[in-house]
Amino acid sequence: MTESVHITRCPDYDPALLKEQLKEHLSRYPELRELKGKRVLLKVNLLKAITPDRAVTTHPELLRAIIDDIHGRGGRTIIADSPGGPFLPSTLKKAYEVSGLEQLARETGAVLNYNTRYHEEVHPKGKFVKRFNVCDYLRDADIVIGVPKFKTHTLCGLSCASKIMYGVVPGLEKVRLHTRFPDPLDFSRMVLDLTELVAADLYIVDAVVGMDGNGPNVGRIRNVGLIASGRAPVVLDLAMCRVTGMDPEKLNIMRAAFRDGRATNDMRMDITGSGSKMRLDPPFDLPDRATFGSDPPRTLVGLVRRISTKGPSIDLRKCVGCGVCMDNCAGKAITMVDEKARIDMSRCIRCYCCHELCPHGAVKLSLSAGRTRQTVEELIYNVFK
Ligand code: SF4
Ligand code: SF4
Repeated sequence: MTESVHITRCPDYDPALLKEQLKEHLSRYPELRELKGKRVLLKVNLLKAITPDRAVTTHPELLRAIIDDIHGRGGRTIIADSPGGPFLPSTLKKAYEVSGLEQLARETGAVLNYNTRYHEEVHPKGKFVKRFNVCDYLRDADIVIGVPKFKTHTLCGLSCASKIMYGVVPGLEKVRLHTRFPDPLDFSRMVLDLTELVAADLYIVDAVVGMDGNGPNVGRIRNVGLIASGRAPVVLDLAMCRVTGMDPEKLNIMRAAFRDGRATNDMRMDITGSGSKMRLDPPFDLPDRATFGSDPPRTLVGLVRRISTKGPSIDLRKCVGCGVCMDNCAGKAITMVDEKARIDMSRCIRCYCCHELCPHGAVKLSLSAGRTRQTVEELIYNVFK
């Protein structure tokens, strides 16, 4: 079967334009035509408490257009995600407030999820992982729509439809998964098993403004001017790679999909819509993290990774000692010294959670940080502090 993807041009978050665009996308899915009494869960991208202009979280105006459309068809909406850090009502409240979702819920009547319970689900058909802890909030929905922000990702290469459901893993359980799967390709294979287990009914990608380079937190904000939708997450991501000029073979999540037979790079897709022929110029920049063109022998993986991938280091002038990185460090490599974060690179597994979650942009990635225990910046700081 040829999977279809619909991509439309949408240059900004103008409410009237978004309303028109989302009507076009949502009307393509027959199960959304009559929603009387149905609960529609919007699984958004809410990495952390950060304002919408930073292009890290799903934009509230795009969500408003979806919510209004669904309410107009008689449905009810619930907004949910599990941000980084402990999965607590207080963490959620702060993330909702700062990201504009609390105001959106007040204005539209959408419900914000505060249910932080989770349960175990078995995935017998998983190609790599067959058991996951997932948040209970998924059980409350008749229909699930994944609404990812279109961003690059230092570990998986791309954060879009194939990765949006990773947010159903509760808070610090994500740290355990990073520890269990330190290899980026293994981690991506695990994410795809999870995506299959808790598949959304459809995905709507917020690529009006996205992020390239070192996403998903501190990359470069890019006007992409697109909204995309489809049912098959890997195919949707592949289509987005084509229009934004990224080589899927350089993105771990796509390489994992190819490896496990979920897609092929040259597969046929039915891409429709005003944005289907667009080619972003210049193309999306990939994250700095090196990926292997072909898999090296397992015995060499550790050595090759150490010399070819970037490591994290702390900008001690920006670090305020909040401890978010330490709490989310899968390698237990971070300690606090004089209220500043310090990384023991011998323990670092390069999961990049510190880079993703630092609220102050104080974690940098560089090749030298991957090889040495103390960066030049740290030495200078220690001399002049
Ligand atoms: S590096 Fe960032 S997250 Fe870690 S303690 Fe410093 S400010 Fe907080
Ligand atoms: S220091 Fe950062 S990149 Fe290294 S294991 Fe800890 S969170 Fe992951």
